[in-house]
Amino acid sequence: MKGIERKLYFSVFLILILTWIGIFRWAYERFKTTPFLSSPSVVSHVGINQYPVVIKIPRVTIYAYMSRPGDTFQSIAHQFGVSVQAIRSLNHANASRDHLKPSKMVLVPSKNGIYYWVQPGVNLSAVAHAYQVSIKTLLLDNHIRSNASFQSRSIIYIPPGHYLSKKNPRWIVLKHLAHETGFIKPVSGWISDEFGERIDPITQLPEFHEGLDIAADEGTPVVAAQKGIVIFAAFDHWGYGNLVIIDHGHGLISKYAHLSKILVKKYQLVQRGQVIGLVGETGDATGPHLHFEIRLNGIPQDPLIYLAH
Ligand SMILES: [Zn+2]
Repeated sequence: MKGIERKLYFSVFLILILTWIGIFRWAYERFKTTPFLSSPSVVSHVGINQYPVVIKIPRVTIYAYMSRPGDTFQSIAHQFGVSVQAIRSLNHANASRDHLKPSKMVLVPSKNGIYYWVQPGVNLSAVAHAYQVSIKTLLLDNHIRSNASFQSRSIIYIPPGHYLSKKNPRWIVLKHLAHETGFIKPVSGWISDEFGERIDPITQLPEFHEGLDIAADEGTPVVAAQKGIVIFAAFDHWGYGNLVIIDHGHGLISKYAHLSKILVKKYQLVQRGQVIGLVGETGDATGPHLHFEIRLNGIPQDPLIYLAH
């Protein structure tokens, strides 16, 4: 009798200890403070595209950090103790440029890995295939129940060790997959200005840049980023200059501004990749470039999210 009682007490004691360890671990993860200089704030809803992206990745905290003069992705990564790839992928910054503009919001994850922005038309198995990670891992790490509950414009966490380099053939696989139904870059050229807050090059006042500027020589062909119907093809007096607007359905439209020449007509059906005009500097432009916009239900979106990268 004594022996059984002792065993019982011991079991209860063990269960209590384990419960306490569990509670302490949870509390530590939940309330651990970050020893960083700029006291970043925790975000769960991110409006960097004026489109609320809900980040619900289990056991990952996302910090919003305001960049200061001299900051680089490398220095921020070092400061926060995470990989450069983790930060770059979360911020959709695949460009080779390392320096950041001051006062730019940078999202910093608490966990290493790749944060993949889901492109329209890309499903979970395509991501799993491109990063050579099992679907089961992705489902578990992202708390998704099935491929069906996988949403476009959300962020998928890919565990470390699966980074897709641009030289990697798997990168090309993903790029093609995204191209199947996604948007393509409408002109070859370098991105001279990104979507978001900036100083207007003409008025020198802060403004919200509603598109992406791609610098290219005057006369470079501009193609439709996705198939659709031309709903505007004329000179716009509000600064866009020669402008083409294409309606892609599902509430999505794309705009191509400052063209030197328009090569399509209103109500014309265009295919993805079809030439619609030539690069110019009509309207409010400081040099030849394409101002490219994507709007969802009238709200400007970051085109980089929609383009295969
Ligand atoms: Zn622009």
